[in-house]
Amino acid sequence: MAGLYFHIPFCKRLCGYCDFHRSVKLRHLPDVIRMMHTELDERHALLSEHRLRTIYFGGGTPSLVAPHEIQRLIDHARQRFDCSEVEEITLEANPDDVTDAYVSALRTTDINRISLGVQSLDEPVLQFMGRRHTAKQAIEAVARLQRAGYDNISVDLIFGVEPFGEESLRKTIEGFVALGVQHISAYHLTIEPDTRFGRLLSKGELRQVDEQRSEREFQQIHDTLTAAGFDHYEVSNYALDGYRSRHNSSYWTGDEYLGIGPGAHSFFGRTRQWCELSPEQYAEHFTHTSETLTERDERNEYLMVSLRRTEGISLDYIRQRWGERQAERIARAAEPMLRAGWLREMGDAEQKTEHRIAIPPEKFLISDAVISTFFEV
Ligand code: SF4
Repeated sequence: MAGLYFHIPFCKRLCGYCDFHRSVKLRHLPDVIRMMHTELDERHALLSEHRLRTIYFGGGTPSLVAPHEIQRLIDHARQRFDCSEVEEITLEANPDDVTDAYVSALRTTDINRISLGVQSLDEPVLQFMGRRHTAKQAIEAVARLQRAGYDNISVDLIFGVEPFGEESLRKTIEGFVALGVQHISAYHLTIEPDTRFGRLLSKGELRQVDEQRSEREFQQIHDTLTAAGFDHYEVSNYALDGYRSRHNSSYWTGDEYLGIGPGAHSFFGRTRQWCELSPEQYAEHFTHTSETLTERDERNEYLMVSLRRTEGISLDYIRQRWGERQAERIARAAEPMLRAGWLREMGDAEQKTEHRIAIPPEKFLISDAVISTFFEV
């Protein structure tokens, strides 16, 4: 089954660290939504799989779109695809958009999962990052959604923020657990050059956290959340039992997905496509850049996304898809890392369970280094 993604590239104001595809020119929003309907009509047939499993509204800030407009896009998707088995329809929301009126309008839509961009429950951190909500607003937003019956809520967390330390992070992680959410995504702050943080960094007015501090914070999050019953199922993602993000999981398992809107990416067959237009340009027309993956790209991609998950890679799958020689190459490359404890082996030939190799979750922080040793260049 496939996934459908709508990218809503608008924000009321820009956060200091953000280099996503977004704009603050909200006047273009109605035209962009209109063009998304056109794009859905024209590009839906690119997916070879007609049945959808998930729909996802990401951004930007999708909660800037009125719920009835969100529902119109969902209804349109139902006309273009078989949605009889859709399991999850997610909306990313900013906490300060989640008012009583907004939530009661949202309840009339088919959205059944909310992903809230909380980032921190420590007020100075929120101000430093330029978020437009307070910690109190975030806590109230979660409570409001829960009272309205939403029982699949995810919150985002950013760590590795200098100068805020362990105590600030503890407040946020423990606060998230206390909120009773089902899913938490934890991302390390990365500072890109073309952002306010990037400019501060180049002037020496901002510091990056060092490696030891990154490791400590990563471990702090892992230990607290796993002790609270969360499964660390992907480098940046934790879920209670039954609440893994189905939409993101489909990116990681190589399923097809169609991305609609400026900045959205698609993947079907061996083709990747993305729309680089600004929202203003997209409101007039849409074009896409395409790339066809080679067999080597596909293998690298499989290794990269699979090793970021607790399930890891399957040597049986590699053998069956790319042949014995590739399975042997990868098994050989894994040997020193298995001895060092950076990888673990799973599966049992006698019991006929799949032979898998994975990074233990507590070692996920070094996943990039481990994955790069498998890459073919
Ligand atoms: S709300 Fe999200 S997408 Fe918008 S500027 Fe902030 S981090 Fe970026």
